[in-house]
Amino acid sequence: MKGQAAKLDNQPHSVSRSPIRPKIGWREQLKLGFRDPGELLDFLGLDPPDRSLAGESAFPMRVPRAFAERMAPGAAHDPLLLQVLPDPDESRARPGFSVDPVGDLDSRSAPAVLHKYHGRALLMTTGACAVHCRYCFRQHYPYAGQTIAPRRWREALGYLGDQPDIEEIILSGGDPLMLSTRQLSELTRDLAALNQIRRLRIHTRMPIVLPDRITDTLVAWLSALPWPVVIVIHANHPNEFDASVDRALERLRSSGAHLLNQTVLMRAINDDTHTLLRLMDRGFAAGVLPYYLHQLDRVAGSARFEVSDETAVALLHGLRLRLPGYLVPRLVREQPGQPFKLPVL
Ligand SMILES: *Cc1c(COP(=O)(O)O)cnc(C)c1O
Ligand code: SF4
Repeated sequence: MKGQAAKLDNQPHSVSRSPIRPKIGWREQLKLGFRDPGELLDFLGLDPPDRSLAGESAFPMRVPRAFAERMAPGAAHDPLLLQVLPDPDESRARPGFSVDPVGDLDSRSAPAVLHKYHGRALLMTTGACAVHCRYCFRQHYPYAGQTIAPRRWREALGYLGDQPDIEEIILSGGDPLMLSTRQLSELTRDLAALNQIRRLRIHTRMPIVLPDRITDTLVAWLSALPWPVVIVIHANHPNEFDASVDRALERLRSSGAHLLNQTVLMRAINDDTHTLLRLMDRGFAAGVLPYYLHQLDRVAGSARFEVSDETAVALLHGLRLRLPGYLVPRLVREQPGQPFKLPVL
């Protein structure tokens, strides 16, 4: 094992962290992202994992460099690192943790359409994400055959057209911004033929994990949409914000979209009042209001992140004591079969 002091002197680290490296496009950045835990740990000046964590996991590690650069060098418990680093605990079966904790497989209404709640339908646009979050409730979702690949799109559209109560379409996934802007605009062009749609929502972690995805073309597409747009980003810790994220969010706002943030409450990552206060404050400084603070969905492999309801309620109370109402997120848990995400407090 290599010593850490030697690592920190290592030239390649400072070179790769340099902000003046030539700019490369977001697709190229995706390809250059970390896929091997050993390489990521090495980049951070940390000791390699005891044994390979890359393994045969169906949900391998994936971390864009832009996100890794916000992790603190030498910090094994960095809150950004812990969200993305595979852990041997993931393969241990835990009672109560399952592959489909929120019952998504039972709520498919048509290929790629989840219509669980009144008035809004969620489209699984793609199974792909720029980052693989270890707590992700969709990490075992069988995306194959369940996203809106062109030949299933017609069927999904047919379903939406037959459901006049659907007024809001949520583009989700995976991460919808993994699609090309051209694919996105083809999608919304077809959606525009449905007269009942009054709002479009986009659930994406891209502005946080790969801010260069927010290109001029993407912003032009957003600006031209015929509906009010809500973009729900996903940040769990204040350190996930930096100047590049601020710029991406500023550009999204320039399209006229409303920006909200959803957060998953997680042990050792954001389960303290101070961190949550900073997260709400930092998000607001970047033009984002809090939306949901989720109790973890009990997906197989994520047990190490769980926070008790008792702690969650105490944390939310702490936020209420210190923040204006609009900076307090809604603490919720998703229960299969329920008509909305249930308030925990
Ligand atoms: C979370 C979710 C929504 C959105 O719910 P809101 O309370 O409107 O944010 C819609 N559809 C599905 C399937 C969901 O899981
Ligand atoms: S970005 Fe969202 S959908 Fe993708 S792995 Fe992370 S939590 Fe899951």
